[in-house]
Amino acid sequence: MLDNRSEFERVLYDGKFRILLSEEQIDARIRELGKEISRDYRTKNPIMIGVLNGGFIFMADLVRYIEIDLEVDFIKISSYGDATTTSGSVKMLKDINAEIRNRHILVVEDIVDTGLSFQFLTKKFGKFEPASLEFVSLLQKKDNARVDYHIKYLGFDIPNEYVVGYGLDHKQILRNLPSIYVMD
Ligand code: 5GP
Repeated sequence: MLDNRSEFERVLYDGKFRILLSEEQIDARIRELGKEISRDYRTKNPIMIGVLNGGFIFMADLVRYIEIDLEVDFIKISSYGDATTTSGSVKMLKDINAEIRNRHILVVEDIVDTGLSFQFLTKKFGKFEPASLEFVSLLQKKDNARVDYHIKYLGFDIPNEYVVGYGLDHKQILRNLPSIYVMD
């Protein structure tokens, strides 16, 4: 029989992927991160820089749990292309527009894996001498780190497996899954 279901439907109904973090777990953790950031940045009017594409859903949910003045901007970088492992070199596909000198910057990432994107962004933004530069990441694969990095606000430490959903893709699709799944 011809199966014309979408990849999205297969994930949800065929048990092809295993659920790692549910919508409820993600939401509860983001609410906590929002509280911490609201407390730490109360008088700082930070600029939150979302890293596209993977970070777009996390960024949108996180800012709604932050109850202080803030600005947003976005940068788009690529290291994976359509593969499931990093190519090792980070390319910038879209730059920010905000003036970040002397401003408090919070970079919002979906996941820190090898840390190469983190290193690239630290160097890039550091050159403009912001008042402070910190990272928020929903996920971290600590065992896969190739460089030293420090995430000030971390959602979850996860095993070294390829995950999809909640903004994270597999060949550009599956970003719209509300939970996070491991590809077996
Ligand atoms: P890093 O530069 O730290 O190796 O990788 C960071 C980027 O690689 C992330 O922003 C994300 O786009 C991509 N990435 C790393 N691990 C995964 C994963 O498990 N799933 C998906 N979909 N993307 C990942």
